Amino acid sequence: MTTKQIFSGGCCCGAIRYEFTVKRDELVMLKCHCRDCQRLSGGPYTPVVYIPVTAGRLNIVRGQVMHHFTPSEMAGRHKRGFCADCGSRLTGGESTNGIAVTAASLDDPALFKPAAETWLCDAQPWDLPLPGLPRFDKYAP
Ligand SMILES: [Zn+2]
Ligand SMILES: [Zn+2]
Repeated sequence: MTTKQIFSGGCCCGAIRYEFTVKRDELVMLKCHCRDCQRLSGGPYTPVVYIPVTAGRLNIVRGQVMHHFTPSEMAGRHKRGFCADCGSRLTGGESTNGIAVTAASLDDPALFKPAAETWLCDAQPWDLPLPGLPRFDKYAP
């Protein structure tokens, strides 16, 4: 049985800070290789730590997250959050079901233990999926 822990993170310039209190095993962690995540991150994928609303809520404790939207096959549109001052990408997948933070925005990114590789249909040839992880062309079921 795991207990709730406080996790924290924020953007590159420090204008935005966030916290969430959850049981670690209730987080959903995956790598998204879709083209939007590539363009937004500047890298081959975005490492995602998803917080289901049933596990806890993301609290913005400093600053204000700005949002923009990309098309989404699953949800119609994908709400993504970033810092207007430094441009760091902070959140994604925001809906009434939960919200994700980017793993690299955590104060301790070593928390990230991905359970799936998603949107491999868009993966770059110079981006190698981790061996042993479940692989999905698009969304994980
Ligand atoms: Zn910032
Ligand atoms: Zn993506």
